[in-house]
Amino acid sequence: MPDLEQFRSDTRQWLRENSPQGVRGLVLALGEGNWGGRRATYPNPDMKRWLEVMVSRGWTAPEWPKQYDGGGLSKAEAKILREELAALRLPEPLSGFGLTMIGPTLLQYGTEEQKREHLPKIVRGEIRWCQGYSEPGSGSDLASLQTKAVLHGDQYVINGQKVWTSYANYADWMFMLVRTDPDAPKHLGITFILVDMATPGVETRPIKLISGSSPFCETFLTDVTVPVKNVIGTVNDGWTVAKALLNHERSMIASAFGAGAKRRTMADWARDYVDSEGDRLADAALRQRIVQFEMDVLAFKLTSDRTRDAAKAGRPPGPESSLFKIYGTELNQRRQELMLSIAGPQSLGWQGEGFTERELTLTRDWLRSRGNTIEGGTSEVQLNIIAKRVLGLPD
Ligand SMILES: Cc1cc2nc3c(=O)[nH]c(=O)nc-3n(C[C@H](O)[C@H](O)[C@H](O)COP(=O)(O)OP(=O)(O)OC[C@H]3O[C@@H](n4cnc5c(N)ncnc54)[C@H](O)[C@@H]3O)c2cc1C
Repeated sequence: MPDLEQFRSDTRQWLRENSPQGVRGLVLALGEGNWGGRRATYPNPDMKRWLEVMVSRGWTAPEWPKQYDGGGLSKAEAKILREELAALRLPEPLSGFGLTMIGPTLLQYGTEEQKREHLPKIVRGEIRWCQGYSEPGSGSDLASLQTKAVLHGDQYVINGQKVWTSYANYADWMFMLVRTDPDAPKHLGITFILVDMATPGVETRPIKLISGSSPFCETFLTDVTVPVKNVIGTVNDGWTVAKALLNHERSMIASAFGAGAKRRTMADWARDYVDSEGDRLADAALRQRIVQFEMDVLAFKLTSDRTRDAAKAGRPPGPESSLFKIYGTELNQRRQELMLSIAGPQSLGWQGEGFTERELTLTRDWLRSRGNTIEGGTSEVQLNIIAKRVLGLPD
């Protein structure tokens, strides 16, 4: 323990000395941070500096091994780093599907050559990744996917279409699922492969939403050639790799939208909108709702921490990630609903002077939260996984 206490005080001092002024106390809306990539943009110049500073210690990926430019920290040290970042109100230096999805999957299933090629670029924020799983006819029933890869010499030629590919128009590389054996049972003819988005034949078309934003794309693949060395795991056994990645994705979604998303307390939010009696809110029913919500957030955080602490070092998440995905995303939807009902008509703004920036963000966050129980697999699909793979119930 004394070593960990020393690590904590060294970390705090280093963060104090090296974090640029412009990132201290910076609160970023979801999706607003550093996503990296060849066309990276930064919320402010200090965020770029912050990324460079953290990359120098490997602390964008604190638990990844040092040989891939990660921080090489133990789970306990990484937890201390997270706590110190939160205590000093410093934002995450880097986000994205590289760190949270394909990186951990490569650590599990990549060859040494694949790890050395891709992991350092993820740590340094040089390459931005997107996920090519869903297709127009294959969402919940993902294993029915039809995008085809045919072997020609040492290249696969890929043809097909993906949909709901989040930020594909900004991504440099895509991890995707393709059908390599059309005659095998559907789960057995799939391969997991990495595709450079700059390859001729890859086309992305952003899907414009009613809000005017385009968080996802249709991705078309026409005679796209990809070297065989980009296959992760075994040809035709991509479903195994795909499921492992989904466990990482679901854990990430749970922590992004669940306990980890908390910035101000709900009571702080309420004080701006409803009457107080002395130092407490006047409305007893609202107090009750807020206390219940905050207790649930805390219980979720403690359960997540405990599960993470109990996991053996390096053990990737399993199907239990579905439990956290359901609870974390429903918690976030409750958070948005509660904030909305507290702000009343002020939460109904879309634009205009009658609303603060925070209120306009709330309306958009609330709408965005509807997708939480769909992305990464719907809640119904998670319930099926829990029944079958966690509880072992019969089909
Ligand atoms: C915000 C957001 C971001 C996304 N980003 C990506 C991305 O980057 N890459 C990517 O590949 N995909 C992405 N997706 C797609 C996502 O994975 C799918 O939307 C999801 O898997 C559901 O598939 P679907 O939309 O085809 O719905 P469907 O599968 O058609 O489901 C429709 C309804 O039927 C229910 N249902 C289906 N099957 C069953 C069953 N067996 N038992 C009970 N109920 C069932 C579902 O729960 C749902 O309510 C994203 C989605 C969202 C909302």
